[in-house]
Amino acid sequence: MQSQQPVCPKKATFNGAEGVSNVLEFAKHVFTTPGARKPKHFIYDTACDVRQQVLANKDEFWLLVGMCVDIYHLQNKHKKTHTFCQTHCNLADYPELKSEDGSGWWFNTSIAEQFLPQ
Ligand SMILES: [Zn+2]
Repeated sequence: MQSQQPVCPKKATFNGAEGVSNVLEFAKHVFTTPGARKPKHFIYDTACDVRQQVLANKDEFWLLVGMCVDIYHLQNKHKKTHTFCQTHCNLADYPELKSEDGSGWWFNTSIAEQFLPQ
């Protein structure tokens, strides 16, 4: 198995403007710069909103990228009754993201956020 590491390659501050379209454009820019690789999964606090916009706009760049809500946000900030969120953006539905023993995930997005590039 190829070694995989969670990556937060860039950060940006969207003061009062962290809209879904701004996040998508920023991430697309980051992952299309020379030498960058398109991610297989994009984990984000409101990935359910992002995924719905991608589907509405049929953005080819993102269509085959898995989009999951960060587990903390999924469990604490997103409604269990939001069907789209629970059925399309739940980390538990992506076996390749689970740890070897299946008890969790092989990455910790909360820790990854703490090591963002300056
Ligand atoms: Zn959601």
